Order: sequence, then structure tokens, then C-alpha cells
Amino acid sequence: MDAGEPRPAHAPLPPHPGLGDFQRHVEALYGERDRRRGLPGTFMWLVEEVGELARALRAEDPQALATEFADVLAWLATVASLAGVDLETAVGRYASGCPRCGKCPCACRRGPARE
Ligand SMILES: [Zn+2]
Repeated sequence: MDAGEPRPAHAPLPPHPGLGDFQRHVEALYGERDRRRGLPGTFMWLVEEVGELARALRAEDPQALATEFADVLAWLATVASLAGVDLETAVGRYASGCPRCGKCPCACRRGPARE
């Protein structure tokens, strides 16, 4: 955000935010900037953050891990917003068990549907 530009008013995250709360919060924080950057450039930032998560996993640094997981989730949320996907609705795909076999835990022979 440019210096001097008024910050948009938005509610802070509740103590136990749902995925939709988090997506809307990230959109309030960065949505304007992310829309200017566009979907391809913002997706590239998500991929870069995934790389940082890989490095944190390799380093076995618990604090860095928490930070990188939060950053990846924030970039995923903003990419979803730019693509017009509501994450809370999208994760309903897993609400009744594995999307392929319907079981919990998954009983698919070749691994879960997300592979
Ligand atoms: Zn399954």
C-alpha cells in the first residue's frame, strides 16, 4: 500500500477463524495490490512461498515452519480470490470423506483423490 493512502477498515480475524474468514481477511489486507498484480504474478508468489516452506521443512525450525505455513496459506487464499474460488465452499469436496471412495479414512487402492 502506498504511504499516505488510507488503510481500508476491516474486522480483525476472530480467535478461531474459519477458512472463509481467513480468505476474506487476506483479501482485505492485500486484495487491491493482488488484483493489480494479476493472477499469473500472484500465483508465482505462491510458488515462491512453497519453496520457502520446503526450505523450512528441511531446516526443521518450528518457528520458521509456522511462518511459512501461514504465508503459503495466505498466498493460496489470495490466488483463490483472484480466481473467483471460495475456499470454504471448495473444501466441501472433502466434507463426506474421500472425494473418490467416500470413506474416512480413504480406502482407495491407488491413494487419495487429491494425488
Ligand atoms: Zn479414497
